[in-house]
Amino acid sequence: MSRVAEQSEQWAAHHARVETLARALADSRGAVRLRKQTSNLFRPREANERTELDVTCFNHVIEIDADAGVAEVEGMTTYAELVDATLPYGLAPVIVPELKSITVGGAMTGVGIESGAFRYGLVHHTAHALDVLVADGRVVTCSPAQRPELFYGFPNSYGSLGYATRVRIGLIPVSPWVRLEHTRYSDPEALFAAIREECARPSCAYLDGVYFGPQDFVLTRAHFVESLPAETAASDYTWMRQYWRSLRERREDYLSIHDYLWRWDTDWFWCSKNIGAHLAPVRLVLGRKRLTSVTYQKIMRASHRWPLKALASLRPRTESVIQDVDIPIANAASFLADFEAEIGIRPVWICPFVVPDGRFSLFALRTDTPYINFGFWDMVRSREPDGHYNARVEALVVRHGGKKSLYSRSTYDHATFWSEYDRDAYQSLKQEYDPQGRFPGLYEKAVKQG
Ligand SMILES: Cc1cc2nc3c(=O)[nH]c(=O)nc-3n(C[C@H](O)[C@H](O)[C@H](O)COP(=O)(O)OP(=O)(O)OC[C@H]3O[C@@H](n4cnc5c(N)ncnc54)[C@H](O)[C@@H]3O)c2cc1C
Repeated sequence: MSRVAEQSEQWAAHHARVETLARALADSRGAVRLRKQTSNLFRPREANERTELDVTCFNHVIEIDADAGVAEVEGMTTYAELVDATLPYGLAPVIVPELKSITVGGAMTGVGIESGAFRYGLVHHTAHALDVLVADGRVVTCSPAQRPELFYGFPNSYGSLGYATRVRIGLIPVSPWVRLEHTRYSDPEALFAAIREECARPSCAYLDGVYFGPQDFVLTRAHFVESLPAETAASDYTWMRQYWRSLRERREDYLSIHDYLWRWDTDWFWCSKNIGAHLAPVRLVLGRKRLTSVTYQKIMRASHRWPLKALASLRPRTESVIQDVDIPIANAASFLADFEAEIGIRPVWICPFVVPDGRFSLFALRTDTPYINFGFWDMVRSREPDGHYNARVEALVVRHGGKKSLYSRSTYDHATFWSEYDRDAYQSLKQEYDPQGRFPGLYEKAVKQG
Protein backbone atom coordinates (compact mmCIF):
# COMPACT_ATOMS: atom_id res chain seq x y z
CA MET A 1 0.00 0.00 0.00
CA SER A 2 1.32 3.48 -0.84
CA ARG A 3 2.16 5.87 2.00
CA VAL A 4 -0.66 8.20 1.00
CA ALA A 5 -3.22 5.36 0.99
CA GLU A 6 -1.91 4.16 4.34
CA GLN A 7 -2.30 7.63 5.81
CA SER A 8 -5.80 8.12 4.53
CA GLU A 9 -6.71 4.76 6.08
CA GLN A 10 -5.23 5.91 9.40
CA TRP A 11 -7.28 9.11 9.26
CA ALA A 12 -10.46 7.19 8.37
CA ALA A 13 -9.92 4.81 11.30
CA HIS A 14 -9.27 7.77 13.59
CA HIS A 15 -12.47 9.53 12.51
CA ALA A 16 -14.44 6.32 13.11
CA ARG A 17 -13.04 6.02 16.65
CA VAL A 18 -13.86 9.68 17.34
CA GLU A 19 -17.40 9.20 16.13
CA THR A 20 -17.95 6.21 18.41
CA LEU A 21 -16.55 8.06 21.41
CA ALA A 22 -18.52 11.22 20.68
CA ARG A 23 -21.72 9.20 20.37
CA ALA A 24 -21.04 7.42 23.67
CA LEU A 25 -20.70 10.80 25.38
CA ALA A 26 -23.73 12.35 23.68
CA ASP A 27 -25.87 9.32 24.57
CA SER A 28 -24.87 9.24 28.22
CA ARG A 29 -26.07 11.36 31.13
CA GLY A 30 -24.46 12.73 34.26
CA ALA A 31 -20.85 13.09 35.36
CA VAL A 32 -18.08 11.67 33.18
CA ARG A 33 -14.57 10.33 33.66
CA LEU A 34 -11.92 8.69 31.46
CA ARG A 35 -11.17 4.99 31.44
CA LYS A 36 -7.43 4.57 30.75
CA GLN A 37 -4.91 1.84 31.40
CA THR A 38 -2.29 3.96 33.17
CA SER A 39 -2.18 7.25 35.02
CA ASN A 40 0.48 9.56 36.37
CA LEU A 41 -1.92 11.36 38.60
CA PHE A 42 -0.83 11.49 42.20
CA ARG A 43 -3.96 12.71 43.83
CA PRO A 44 -6.35 9.97 44.92
CA ARG A 45 -9.70 10.14 43.18
CA GLU A 46 -12.96 9.65 44.95
CA ALA A 47 -14.71 6.49 43.80
CA ASN A 48 -17.92 8.25 42.85
CA GLU A 49 -20.50 7.23 40.28
CA ARG A 50 -19.56 8.41 36.80
CA THR A 51 -20.08 7.51 33.19
CA GLU A 52 -16.74 6.04 32.10
CA LEU A 53 -15.56 6.94 28.63
CA ASP A 54 -13.34 4.20 27.29
CA VAL A 55 -10.49 5.93 25.49
CA THR A 56 -8.01 3.06 25.49
CA CYS A 57 -8.14 2.76 21.69
CA PHE A 58 -7.02 6.39 21.20
CA ASN A 59 -3.38 5.44 21.06
CA HIS A 60 -2.46 5.79 17.40
CA VAL A 61 0.13 7.92 15.71
CA ILE A 62 -1.97 8.96 12.72
CA GLU A 63 0.64 10.69 10.61
CA ILE A 64 4.22 11.89 10.75
CA ASP A 65 5.13 14.75 8.45
CA ALA A 66 8.91 14.70 8.63
CA ASP A 67 9.32 17.69 6.32
CA ALA A 68 6.99 19.89 8.35
CA GLY A 69 8.34 18.48 11.64
CA VAL A 70 4.95 17.54 13.07
CA ALA A 71 3.08 14.43 14.17
CA GLU A 72 -0.68 13.96 14.28
CA VAL A 73 -1.28 11.87 17.37
CA GLU A 74 -4.31 10.53 19.21
CA GLY A 75 -4.72 11.93 22.71
CA MET A 76 -4.06 8.77 24.71
CA THR A 77 -0.95 7.79 22.76
CA THR A 78 1.89 7.37 25.23
CA TYR A 79 5.16 9.11 24.63
CA ALA A 80 6.79 5.66 24.49
CA GLU A 81 4.56 4.84 21.50
CA LEU A 82 5.14 8.22 19.89
CA VAL A 83 8.92 8.07 20.28
CA ASP A 84 8.98 4.56 18.80
CA ALA A 85 7.15 5.96 15.78
CA THR A 86 9.32 9.05 15.29
CA LEU A 87 12.87 7.78 15.95
CA PRO A 88 13.05 5.77 12.70
CA TYR A 89 12.66 9.16 10.92
CA GLY A 90 15.52 10.63 12.99
CA LEU A 91 12.93 12.78 14.81
CA ALA A 92 11.61 13.07 18.36
CA PRO A 93 8.83 15.12 19.94
CA VAL A 94 10.26 18.51 20.88
CA ILE A 95 9.59 17.72 24.53
CA VAL A 96 9.40 14.09 25.71
CA PRO A 97 8.11 13.90 29.31
CA GLU A 98 10.30 11.24 30.79
CA LEU A 99 7.81 8.73 32.15
CA LYS A 100 6.91 6.27 29.41
CA SER A 101 3.19 6.07 30.12
CA ILE A 102 2.54 9.83 30.07
CA THR A 103 0.22 10.44 27.13
CA VAL A 104 0.26 13.29 24.68
CA GLY A 105 -3.17 14.50 25.86
CA GLY A 106 -2.19 14.12 29.52
CA ALA A 107 0.98 16.15 28.98
CA MET A 108 -0.94 18.82 27.04
CA THR A 109 -3.46 19.27 29.80
CA GLY A 110 -1.02 18.53 32.64
CA VAL A 111 1.86 20.89 31.75
CA GLY A 112 4.46 18.32 30.62
CA ILE A 113 8.14 19.21 30.77
CA GLU A 114 11.58 17.77 30.04
CA SER A 115 15.16 18.73 29.42
CA GLY A 116 14.52 20.36 26.01
CA ALA A 117 12.35 22.94 27.78
CA PHE A 118 15.27 25.37 28.30
CA ARG A 119 15.14 25.86 24.51
CA TYR A 120 11.50 25.28 23.57
CA GLY A 121 9.27 25.67 26.63
CA LEU A 122 6.68 23.23 27.99
CA VAL A 123 4.80 20.52 26.05
CA HIS A 124 1.86 22.81 25.30
CA HIS A 125 4.24 25.38 23.77
CA THR A 126 5.14 22.76 21.17
CA ALA A 127 1.58 21.88 20.10
CA HIS A 128 0.13 23.39 16.92
CA ALA A 129 -3.52 22.36 17.24
CA LEU A 130 -5.81 19.91 18.99
CA ASP A 131 -9.25 18.37 18.74
CA VAL A 132 -11.21 18.39 21.97
CA LEU A 133 -14.23 16.24 22.79
CA VAL A 134 -16.50 18.57 24.76
CA ALA A 135 -19.40 17.80 27.06
CA ASP A 136 -22.23 17.74 24.51
CA GLY A 137 -20.39 15.22 22.31
CA ARG A 138 -18.99 17.70 19.78
CA VAL A 139 -15.35 17.46 18.78
CA VAL A 140 -13.94 20.94 18.29
CA THR A 141 -10.63 21.90 16.76
CA CYS A 142 -8.58 24.61 18.38
CA SER A 143 -5.29 26.31 17.56
CA PRO A 144 -3.85 29.82 17.92
CA ALA A 145 -6.03 30.79 14.94
CA GLN A 146 -9.17 28.74 15.62
CA ARG A 147 -10.97 28.94 18.98
CA PRO A 148 -7.81 30.43 20.53
CA GLU A 149 -9.47 30.77 23.99
CA LEU A 150 -9.82 26.99 24.20
CA PHE A 151 -6.33 26.37 22.80
CA TYR A 152 -4.81 28.72 25.36
CA GLY A 153 -7.13 27.57 28.17
CA PHE A 154 -6.62 23.82 27.74
CA PRO A 155 -3.19 23.42 29.43
CA ASN A 156 -3.69 22.91 33.17
CA SER A 157 -7.39 22.17 32.74
CA TYR A 158 -6.87 18.43 33.51
CA GLY A 159 -9.79 17.15 31.50
CA SER A 160 -12.23 19.54 33.16
CA LEU A 161 -13.09 21.26 29.84
CA GLY A 162 -12.95 18.21 27.58
CA TYR A 163 -10.60 15.54 26.31
CA ALA A 164 -7.96 15.92 23.59
CA THR A 165 -8.63 13.26 20.96
CA ARG A 166 -5.96 14.48 18.52
CA VAL A 167 -2.91 16.67 18.95
CA ARG A 168 -0.70 18.13 16.23
CA ILE A 169 2.64 18.21 18.00
CA GLY A 170 6.08 19.48 16.98
CA LEU A 171 9.06 17.24 16.25
CA ILE A 172 12.78 18.01 16.06
CA PRO A 173 15.65 16.20 14.34
CA VAL A 174 17.75 14.16 16.76
CA SER A 175 21.02 12.21 16.45
CA PRO A 176 21.39 8.51 17.24
CA TRP A 177 23.62 9.24 20.25
CA VAL A 178 24.06 11.85 22.93
CA ARG A 179 27.19 12.83 24.81
CA LEU A 180 26.47 13.79 28.38
CA GLU A 181 28.58 16.30 30.24
CA HIS A 182 28.00 16.27 33.99
CA THR A 183 29.29 19.37 35.81
CA ARG A 184 29.29 19.58 39.59
CA TYR A 185 28.51 22.78 41.42
CA SER A 186 28.72 23.66 45.09
CA ASP A 187 27.36 27.20 44.76
CA PRO A 188 23.68 27.45 43.77
CA GLU A 189 24.18 30.98 42.42
CA ALA A 190 26.88 29.68 40.03
CA LEU A 191 24.62 26.82 38.96
CA PHE A 192 21.66 29.08 38.21
CA ALA A 193 23.94 31.58 36.42
CA ALA A 194 25.15 28.74 34.16
CA ILE A 195 21.55 27.72 33.49
CA ARG A 196 20.56 31.30 32.73
CA GLU A 197 23.40 31.51 30.23
CA GLU A 198 22.28 28.25 28.53
CA CYS A 199 18.71 29.56 28.26
CA ALA A 200 20.00 32.71 26.58
CA ARG A 201 22.61 31.04 24.34
CA PRO A 202 22.10 27.25 24.23
CA SER A 203 25.31 25.26 23.79
CA CYS A 204 23.65 21.84 24.10
CA ALA A 205 20.54 19.97 23.00
CA TYR A 206 19.14 19.11 26.44
CA LEU A 207 19.75 20.50 29.93
CA ASP A 208 18.71 19.38 33.41
CA GLY A 209 20.20 19.00 36.86
CA VAL A 210 19.86 17.44 40.26
CA TYR A 211 20.15 18.87 43.76
CA PHE A 212 21.63 16.20 45.99
CA GLY A 213 22.04 18.44 49.04
CA PRO A 214 23.42 21.85 50.04
CA GLN A 215 26.53 22.53 47.93
CA ASP A 216 26.02 19.37 45.93
CA PHE A 217 24.50 19.94 42.49
CA VAL A 218 25.04 18.30 39.11
CA LEU A 219 24.12 20.04 35.85
CA THR A 220 23.90 17.78 32.79
CA ARG A 221 24.33 19.06 29.26
CA ALA A 222 23.42 16.57 26.54
CA HIS A 223 24.92 17.07 23.08
CA PHE A 224 23.81 15.29 19.92
CA VAL A 225 26.55 13.15 18.33
CA GLU A 226 26.30 11.11 15.14
CA SER A 227 28.56 8.28 16.30
CA LEU A 228 30.39 7.08 19.37
CA PRO A 229 34.11 7.86 19.70
CA ALA A 230 36.41 4.94 18.86
CA GLU A 231 36.51 2.27 21.54
CA THR A 232 33.73 3.91 23.53
CA ALA A 233 30.61 1.99 24.42
CA ALA A 234 27.35 3.67 25.32
CA SER A 235 26.21 3.16 28.92
CA ASP A 236 23.21 1.08 29.83
CA TYR A 237 21.06 2.17 32.79
CA THR A 238 18.07 0.00 32.00
CA TRP A 239 18.85 -2.83 34.40
CA MET A 240 21.58 -3.26 37.00
CA ARG A 241 23.01 0.28 36.95
CA GLN A 242 21.15 3.43 37.96
CA TYR A 243 21.38 6.58 35.89
CA TRP A 244 20.95 9.00 38.79
CA ARG A 245 23.92 7.51 40.62
CA SER A 246 26.12 7.96 37.56
CA LEU A 247 25.68 11.74 37.68
CA ARG A 248 28.17 12.13 40.53
CA GLU A 249 30.42 9.29 39.40
CA ARG A 250 31.22 10.41 35.85
CA ARG A 251 32.04 13.65 34.10
CA GLU A 252 31.20 12.33 30.65
CA ASP A 253 28.94 9.60 29.37
CA TYR A 254 27.30 8.37 26.16
CA LEU A 255 23.76 7.07 25.66
CA SER A 256 21.66 6.19 22.66
CA ILE A 257 19.01 8.84 22.04
CA HIS A 258 16.35 6.28 23.02
CA ASP A 259 18.02 5.55 26.35
CA TYR A 260 18.60 9.25 26.96
CA LEU A 261 14.92 10.09 26.51
CA TRP A 262 13.94 7.34 28.96
CA ARG A 263 16.89 7.73 31.34
CA TRP A 264 14.61 8.67 34.27
CA ASP A 265 11.93 6.07 33.63
CA THR A 266 13.85 2.96 34.73
CA ASP A 267 14.09 4.21 38.32
CA TRP A 268 11.24 6.72 38.27
CA PHE A 269 14.01 9.25 38.75
CA TRP A 270 15.25 7.73 42.06
CA CYS A 271 11.88 6.78 43.55
CA SER A 272 12.35 3.06 42.73
CA LYS A 273 14.14 2.81 46.07
CA ASN A 274 10.75 3.00 47.78
CA ILE A 275 10.09 -0.57 46.65
CA GLY A 276 13.66 -1.76 47.14
CA ALA A 277 14.46 -1.64 43.42
CA HIS A 278 17.80 0.06 44.12
CA LEU A 279 19.04 -3.28 45.53
CA ALA A 280 20.92 -5.51 43.10
CA PRO A 281 19.02 -8.76 43.91
CA VAL A 282 15.67 -7.00 43.42
CA ARG A 283 16.84 -5.54 40.09
CA LEU A 284 18.09 -8.92 39.00
CA VAL A 285 14.72 -10.51 39.70
CA LEU A 286 12.59 -7.71 38.27
CA GLY A 287 14.55 -7.60 35.01
CA ARG A 288 14.62 -4.83 32.41
CA LYS A 289 10.97 -5.12 31.45
CA ARG A 290 9.59 -4.50 34.90
CA LEU A 291 12.04 -1.76 35.90
CA THR A 292 9.81 1.01 34.69
CA SER A 293 7.55 3.75 36.03
CA VAL A 294 4.49 1.71 35.00
CA THR A 295 5.44 -1.03 37.51
CA TYR A 296 5.99 1.51 40.28
CA GLN A 297 2.64 3.19 39.58
CA LYS A 298 0.87 -0.14 39.88
CA ILE A 299 2.60 -0.88 43.19
CA MET A 300 1.86 2.62 44.46
CA ARG A 301 -1.83 2.28 43.58
CA ALA A 302 -2.01 -1.15 45.22
CA SER A 303 -0.48 0.35 48.38
CA HIS A 304 -3.54 2.59 48.72
CA ARG A 305 -5.72 -0.50 48.98
CA TRP A 306 -6.31 -2.84 51.88
CA PRO A 307 -4.34 -4.83 53.21
CA LEU A 308 -1.21 -2.91 52.12
CA LYS A 309 -2.74 0.30 53.39
CA ALA A 310 -3.30 -1.33 56.77
CA LEU A 311 0.37 -2.43 56.87
CA ALA A 312 1.53 1.09 56.04
CA SER A 313 -0.38 2.45 59.02
CA LEU A 314 2.00 0.49 61.29
CA ARG A 315 4.96 2.63 60.18
CA PRO A 316 5.81 6.06 61.67
CA ARG A 317 3.42 8.70 60.37
CA THR A 318 4.49 10.34 57.13
CA GLU A 319 3.07 12.75 54.58
CA SER A 320 3.53 12.17 50.91
CA VAL A 321 4.97 15.27 49.22
CA ILE A 322 4.97 14.69 45.47
CA GLN A 323 5.12 17.95 43.60
CA ASP A 324 6.56 19.82 40.64
CA VAL A 325 6.80 23.57 41.10
CA ASP A 326 7.97 26.33 38.76
CA ILE A 327 10.01 29.23 40.13
CA PRO A 328 11.42 32.25 38.24
CA ILE A 329 15.18 31.70 38.02
CA ALA A 330 16.07 34.80 40.05
CA ASN A 331 14.27 33.26 43.05
CA ALA A 332 15.42 29.68 42.47
CA ALA A 333 18.35 29.67 44.92
CA SER A 334 16.31 31.22 47.73
CA PHE A 335 13.41 28.85 47.05
CA LEU A 336 15.75 25.88 47.31
CA ALA A 337 17.31 27.13 50.56
CA ASP A 338 13.85 27.63 52.11
CA PHE A 339 12.70 24.27 50.74
CA GLU A 340 15.71 22.54 52.31
CA ALA A 341 14.97 24.19 55.66
CA GLU A 342 11.20 23.59 55.67
CA ILE A 343 10.68 20.32 53.76
CA GLY A 344 14.13 18.76 53.29
CA ILE A 345 13.41 16.22 50.55
CA ARG A 346 16.45 15.18 48.49
CA PRO A 347 17.30 14.67 45.69
CA VAL A 348 15.37 17.34 43.80
CA TRP A 349 15.12 17.41 40.01
CA ILE A 350 16.04 20.73 38.39
CA CYS A 351 14.58 21.31 34.94
CA PRO A 352 14.96 24.80 33.46
CA PHE A 353 12.47 26.13 30.96
CA VAL A 354 11.67 29.24 28.98
CA VAL A 355 8.20 30.60 28.27
CA PRO A 356 7.93 31.38 24.56
CA ASP A 357 4.26 32.33 24.75
CA GLY A 358 2.51 33.92 27.72
CA ARG A 359 -1.08 33.53 26.50
CA PHE A 360 -1.93 30.24 28.28
CA SER A 361 -4.59 31.48 30.68
CA LEU A 362 -4.77 28.65 33.23
CA PHE A 363 -1.01 28.43 33.65
CA ALA A 364 0.06 32.04 33.23
CA LEU A 365 3.83 32.47 33.42
CA ARG A 366 6.16 35.37 32.78
CA THR A 367 7.87 35.48 29.39
CA ASP A 368 10.69 37.76 30.55
CA THR A 369 12.50 35.14 32.61
CA PRO A 370 13.48 31.47 32.51
CA TYR A 371 11.92 29.31 35.21
CA ILE A 372 13.23 26.36 37.16
CA ASN A 373 10.96 23.36 37.58
CA PHE A 374 11.82 21.68 40.89
CA GLY A 375 10.50 18.12 41.14
CA PHE A 376 10.45 16.32 44.50
CA TRP A 377 8.66 13.10 45.22
CA ASP A 378 8.99 11.52 48.66
CA MET A 379 7.52 10.96 52.11
CA VAL A 380 8.22 13.36 54.96
CA ARG A 381 8.08 12.21 58.59
CA SER A 382 5.34 14.21 60.21
CA ARG A 383 3.72 14.97 63.53
CA GLU A 384 1.61 17.65 61.92
CA PRO A 385 -1.97 17.39 60.64
CA ASP A 386 -2.09 15.68 57.24
CA GLY A 387 -1.49 18.16 54.43
CA HIS A 388 0.79 20.39 56.49
CA TYR A 389 3.91 19.93 54.32
CA ASN A 390 2.06 20.18 51.00
CA ALA A 391 0.52 23.44 52.22
CA ARG A 392 3.99 24.70 53.16
CA VAL A 393 5.19 23.94 49.64
CA GLU A 394 2.27 25.95 48.25
CA ALA A 395 3.13 28.89 50.51
CA LEU A 396 6.79 28.69 49.46
CA VAL A 397 5.80 28.72 45.80
CA VAL A 398 3.63 31.81 46.25
CA ARG A 399 6.36 33.55 48.25
CA HIS A 400 8.86 32.96 45.45
CA GLY A 401 6.54 34.10 42.64
CA GLY A 402 6.06 30.59 41.22
CA LYS A 403 3.33 28.27 40.01
CA LYS A 404 2.50 24.73 41.10
CA SER A 405 1.49 21.82 38.88
CA LEU A 406 -1.85 20.27 39.80
CA TYR A 407 -1.21 16.57 39.06
CA SER A 408 -0.72 15.89 42.75
CA ARG A 409 -2.20 16.95 46.04
CA SER A 410 -3.28 20.57 46.53
CA THR A 411 -4.59 22.11 49.72
CA TYR A 412 -5.54 25.63 48.57
CA ASP A 413 -8.78 27.15 49.76
CA HIS A 414 -11.12 28.26 46.99
CA ALA A 415 -10.10 31.93 47.02
CA THR A 416 -6.35 31.28 47.04
CA PHE A 417 -6.66 28.69 44.28
CA TRP A 418 -8.46 31.12 42.00
CA SER A 419 -6.00 33.87 42.77
CA GLU A 420 -3.31 31.59 41.29
CA TYR A 421 -5.21 30.32 38.22
CA ASP A 422 -7.30 32.59 35.99
CA ARG A 423 -10.86 32.14 37.20
CA ASP A 424 -12.57 34.42 34.67
CA ALA A 425 -10.96 32.75 31.66
CA TYR A 426 -11.79 29.33 33.10
CA GLN A 427 -15.39 30.11 33.89
CA SER A 428 -16.06 31.48 30.45
CA LEU A 429 -14.59 28.30 28.87
CA LYS A 430 -16.54 26.11 31.27
CA GLN A 431 -19.73 27.98 30.40
CA GLU A 432 -19.11 27.52 26.70
CA TYR A 433 -17.91 23.91 26.57
CA ASP A 434 -19.41 22.28 29.67
CA PRO A 435 -22.33 24.43 30.87
CA GLN A 436 -23.99 21.54 32.72
CA GLY A 437 -20.84 20.51 34.57
CA ARG A 438 -20.55 16.97 33.23
CA PHE A 439 -16.81 17.12 33.80
CA PRO A 440 -15.70 18.05 37.33
CA GLY A 441 -14.54 21.65 37.81
CA LEU A 442 -10.82 22.31 38.05
CA TYR A 443 -10.88 23.26 41.74
CA GLU A 444 -13.04 20.24 42.60
CA LYS A 445 -10.68 17.99 40.64
CA ALA A 446 -7.37 19.39 41.80
CA VAL A 447 -8.18 20.09 45.43
CA LYS A 448 -11.31 18.18 46.36
CA GLN A 449 -10.18 15.08 44.46
CA GLY A 450 -13.40 14.89 42.53
C1 LIG B 1 6.08 11.26 40.26
C2 LIG B 1 5.66 12.10 39.07
C3 LIG B 1 6.64 12.73 38.35
C4 LIG B 1 6.28 13.47 37.25
N1 LIG B 1 7.26 14.00 36.54
C5 LIG B 1 6.97 14.59 35.40
C6 LIG B 1 7.98 15.07 34.58
O1 LIG B 1 9.15 14.96 34.90
N2 LIG B 1 7.66 15.65 33.40
C7 LIG B 1 6.37 15.79 33.05
O2 LIG B 1 6.09 16.28 31.97
N3 LIG B 1 5.38 15.42 33.85
C8 LIG B 1 5.64 14.81 35.00
N4 LIG B 1 4.63 14.38 35.77
C9 LIG B 1 3.27 14.88 35.55
C10 LIG B 1 2.53 14.30 34.40
O3 LIG B 1 3.03 14.77 33.17
C11 LIG B 1 1.08 14.77 34.48
O4 LIG B 1 0.50 14.22 35.63
C12 LIG B 1 0.27 14.37 33.25
O5 LIG B 1 -1.01 14.98 33.27
C13 LIG B 1 0.11 12.86 33.22
O6 LIG B 1 -0.44 12.48 32.00
P1 LIG B 1 -1.13 11.06 31.80
O7 LIG B 1 -1.19 10.89 30.35
O8 LIG B 1 -0.45 10.00 32.58
O9 LIG B 1 -2.59 11.34 32.31
P2 LIG B 1 -3.41 10.80 33.54
O10 LIG B 1 -2.50 10.70 34.74
O11 LIG B 1 -4.18 9.62 33.16
O12 LIG B 1 -4.41 12.00 33.73
C14 LIG B 1 -3.97 13.24 34.24
C15 LIG B 1 -5.08 14.24 34.12
O13 LIG B 1 -5.20 14.63 32.77
C16 LIG B 1 -6.50 14.36 32.28
N5 LIG B 1 -6.31 13.83 30.94
C17 LIG B 1 -5.69 12.70 30.58
N6 LIG B 1 -5.72 12.56 29.24
C18 LIG B 1 -6.38 13.64 28.76
C19 LIG B 1 -6.72 14.08 27.47
N7 LIG B 1 -6.45 13.38 26.38
N8 LIG B 1 -7.39 15.27 27.36
C20 LIG B 1 -7.71 16.00 28.43
N9 LIG B 1 -7.41 15.62 29.68
C21 LIG B 1 -6.75 14.46 29.84
C22 LIG B 1 -7.14 13.36 33.22
O14 LIG B 1 -8.53 13.55 33.30
C23 LIG B 1 -6.47 13.71 34.54
O15 LIG B 1 -7.11 14.76 35.20
C24 LIG B 1 4.93 13.64 36.89
C25 LIG B 1 3.94 13.01 37.62
C26 LIG B 1 4.31 12.24 38.69
C27 LIG B 1 3.24 11.56 39.43
